[in-house]
Amino acid sequence: MRDKGKWLDDAGARTRAIRAGIERTHEGEHGEPIFTSSSFVFDSAEDAAARFSGDQAGNVYSRYTNPTVRSFEERLASLEMGEAAVATASGMSAILALCMTHLRAGDHVLCSQDVFGATVGLFQNTLMKFGVEVSFVPLTEVDAWRDAARSSTRLLFLETPSNPLNAVADLPALANISRDIGALLAVDNCFCTPVLQKPLALGADIVTHSATKYLDGQGRVLGGAVVGARTLIEPIVAFNRSCGPTMSAFNAWVMLKGLETLELRMQAHCDNASRLAQWLQTRAELAAVHYCGLAEHPGHELASRQQAGYGGVLAFELKGGREAAWRFINQTQMMSLTANLGDTKTTIVHPASTTHGRLSVAQREAAGISEGLVRIAVGLENFEDLQSDCERGFAGA
Ligand SMILES: *Cc1c(COP(=O)(O)O)cnc(C)c1O
Repeated sequence: MRDKGKWLDDAGARTRAIRAGIERTHEGEHGEPIFTSSSFVFDSAEDAAARFSGDQAGNVYSRYTNPTVRSFEERLASLEMGEAAVATASGMSAILALCMTHLRAGDHVLCSQDVFGATVGLFQNTLMKFGVEVSFVPLTEVDAWRDAARSSTRLLFLETPSNPLNAVADLPALANISRDIGALLAVDNCFCTPVLQKPLALGADIVTHSATKYLDGQGRVLGGAVVGARTLIEPIVAFNRSCGPTMSAFNAWVMLKGLETLELRMQAHCDNASRLAQWLQTRAELAAVHYCGLAEHPGHELASRQQAGYGGVLAFELKGGREAAWRFINQTQMMSLTANLGDTKTTIVHPASTTHGRLSVAQREAAGISEGLVRIAVGLENFEDLQSDCERGFAGA
C-alpha cells in the first residue's frame, strides 16, 4: 500500500486544482466519480441513528452532503486559501445563502453600485421584504463606504473588477473598514477566480462565486459557492440543508473537472484580452477602451498590486453611440451574441440594451454605461481570429 503522504498541503495551486478533494471508491477509478444518489444507505438501525444524530460521520441525503459535491468544495476552498467552502445551485443562490445565514431583519448592507444586476434585485427586492436594508456605494470611493456605514451595518458586498468597466476596489482598505465596524466583507470573485485574486488573503471574510462562469469555463452548467472560515461556512451549510439551494452531483463533477484547467485557461483568457485591449486602443473608431490591464486605466495600479492578471472581460466605447455599437455587433460573425461570460467561446453584448437595460438613463449614465459601449468577454480562440472578427465589426464605420 502506497503511503498517501502529506505532500498535498504544500503543493502548488495547479497541483491542488488537479489533486485536492479526490474521493475514490473501492472500484479504484482514476477519474473522479459522480455520486448520482439522492440518499445513502446504512448498515444497521444503530448506524442510521448515529448518522442522523451526527455522532457518526457520513452521508445521509444529497441535500445534506454528497461526495462529488464535497470534492468540488474541498478543491475550491484549497484554491481560494479558505478553510471551507459550500457549493450552491447557482451564483445567485450562493449570495442568497450567504445573506439568509449571516443577516437578520434590521441589519444593513453596503453594496457596491456596479454589482451583477440580479444581485441588486436580490438586495433591493427580496431582502428588503425581510427587513434588511441596503445602501449602494461607489466601488472605488473608500471614504464613501466608511461614510455610509451605520451601527447596523453587518455586510459589505462587492465585485472587483467591475462589470463591464473594470473598476477596481481597494480590498485591503475596505477590509479595514469592515473590521473597524464589525461587519463581514464579502467579495464576488467571479471575474478573477482564485487564479488571479485571493480576496481572503487580502482581508476579505467571504468569497462568493458564480461557478457558472470561469470555474466551469465552458458554458455547460450553473453553479455557485461560498468560501471562508469554517465558522462562517458551517451555518451556510445548515441553511442549505434545510432550505435546499444545493449543487447537483453532476454539476459538481463538471466544476471539479473545470478547476483542473482553471489556471491555464485564465492565463490564456488574460493573454487574449490584453492583446485585444492593446489593439483596440489603436482604433480611431473608439472613444475609450476599459481594461484594467491597460496602463491608462484608473484601476491599473491597484489591479497590478492585488491581482495576478487582469482578467478576460473588457469593454470599449464606439464614438458613434448606440447605432455604431449595434452595427459593430451585427457585423461580427464569430463572437457569440450572448450575455454570458467566462467561456472558452468569446461573447459580445451591448450592455445598455441588455444586461443594464433595466436601469434608468440617469442610472446608466452614473454607472458609465454609455450607448456606444460594447462588452467582450474574451474566450480562447486564436487571437488573430478575434481580431478579424472585430475588423468585420469596424467595417464601414
Ligand atoms: C453570473 C454572475 C452571478 C450570478 O451567477 P449565476 O450562476 O448566474 O446565478 C453573480 N455575480 C457575477 C459577477 C456574475 O457574473
